[in-house]
Amino acid sequence: MPTRPPIFQPRGKSAADRIRDYDRERGSAAERLYDWRWGKAAKAFLALYPLCRYCALHDRVTVATVVDHFWPHRGDRVLFWRSEFWVPACDSCHSGLKQAVERKGMAALRGLAARLGLAEP
Ligand SMILES: [Zn+2]
Repeated sequence: MPTRPPIFQPRGKSAADRIRDYDRERGSAAERLYDWRWGKAAKAFLALYPLCRYCALHDRVTVATVVDHFWPHRGDRVLFWRSEFWVPACDSCHSGLKQAVERKGMAALRGLAARLGLAEP
């Protein structure tokens, strides 16, 4: 009985692996939004609003170094560019207080938004 000759199958990456590698290399959709245009816009925003708004809630005067997207945009380009939801923040508040509030969930985030006078998207 004739048998089929073995088929050569190169041991390469699957299509899914190649797509995953490509995405890893270029960054996620959210990461890709932080390009030179964002750098320019954030710098201009901080020139207009140089103090951390989170510190101000606690009567502290601190220089803002980052622009926080108050409502997590998760790569949503429209929400990302809605500057009415940008909050000037110091590094400490951005990585501490704000992250903690986000971890607590939407109710906590809405509470903080109310204190800052921010609307919801
Ligand atoms: Zn602060």
